[in-house]
Amino acid sequence: MLQTTTAGSLPKPSWLAETEKLWAPWRLSGAELIRGKQDAALVWLKEQEKAGIDIVTDGEQFRRHFVHGFLEKIEGIDWQKMTEMGIRDNRYVASVPTVTGPVKRKGSVHGDEARFCRAYTTHQLKFTLPGPMTICDTIADAHYGKRADMAMAFAEILNEEVRELEAIGVDVIQFDEPAFNAFMNDVKEWGVAALHRAIEGVSCKTAVHICYGYGIQENIDWKKGLGSEWRQYEEIFPALNASRIDQVSLECANSKVPLSLMGLLKDKEVMVGVIDVATSKIETPEAVAATIRSAMPYVDPERLMPCTNCGMTPLSRQTAAGKLASLGAGAAIVRKELGQKPL
Ligand code: ZN
Repeated sequence: MLQTTTAGSLPKPSWLAETEKLWAPWRLSGAELIRGKQDAALVWLKEQEKAGIDIVTDGEQFRRHFVHGFLEKIEGIDWQKMTEMGIRDNRYVASVPTVTGPVKRKGSVHGDEARFCRAYTTHQLKFTLPGPMTICDTIADAHYGKRADMAMAFAEILNEEVRELEAIGVDVIQFDEPAFNAFMNDVKEWGVAALHRAIEGVSCKTAVHICYGYGIQENIDWKKGLGSEWRQYEEIFPALNASRIDQVSLECANSKVPLSLMGLLKDKEVMVGVIDVATSKIETPEAVAATIRSAMPYVDPERLMPCTNCGMTPLSRQTAAGKLASLGAGAAIVRKELGQKPL
């Protein structure tokens, strides 16, 4: 009950990449870079274990960005042909590569990374991948013509990767789909179908993370225009509750999402964001416990997984470590109240 986890990404140490920045360039190269990424993953595996996080991740230390880290090893993408494109329904402009032919997985993308983490932790291990819709919203298309078709092609290669990660011993595969909050109709029309294609034949736990984005200025500005109640989830949760995905990750702490919307996920495990990633202020364990309690009228403790609202990449290492500690300690407070011995 109340198994803790995070949305996935954690800050890079200052010796590995520029800090407090998305898409930060690496500070190492060649064999040194590979070793550096592994060392950084080790740091975060241990920080998560120390904080009492039950389901740990590599902190996405092996990739510069959660979408392009996957795409870098896919055939059919032209990285010389960069296109300026409004992404997440034009919330921000990004320079993205272009799909110029059928996409194909040349070989393992994250296999070595998952194997490395699996060898260093006995905790449950989660691996995050970009979801098909979010991939299609972070790349330009000069080949498929229809976004739904391109998403299905990416879902097929994600499925190959997921099967490999499962065989390595990954316990939870999470797809990050921030685009689900921007294109709600597409979620119902083809977004969930693409996720189903990506998890075909897989028996480990599967999850989808849907958030209001990293705590960067563009997202803070966007949220200001969303009104006093954020009801995007209301449109997509019924479809997700009916889906074959096991877990849904949502934003809750300091959010204007009505708590009652969690009630739409009654057949799912719900990763409730109890850590705000848009502020460097570290929540106290008591504040985390209060947010967990506020979700309990809608999600029973057996299905409730305290989590972060989103990834913590843009925060400082110290802040992220502090937030991890509070996440673990806050969940422990509520477990104690519920009469459960520490896991
Ligand atoms: Zn997120």
